[in-house]
Amino acid sequence: MTERTERDFFSRSEEDQQAFLEQTWCDSCQEVNLGMAEPEEYELKGTIYIEGKCKKCGEVVLTELTDDDF
Ligand SMILES: [Zn+2]
Repeated sequence: MTERTERDFFSRSEEDQQAFLEQTWCDSCQEVNLGMAEPEEYELKGTIYIEGKCKKCGEVVLTELTDDDF
């Protein structure tokens, strides 16, 4: 059982969505800004995460949002 709360990524502005989809870090590729597909946004223990798939390798990429971002 997780304390994960789903949020609606697509309720963000076009600009925000674009930025989050482009500004990524892929652990698997060890590269920034490869882009992500199929974004999902959720909150876990007070932190917002945007999770998607790396456009290059298909592995999960996770963006953690700090307070300044939302
Ligand atoms: Zn990758």
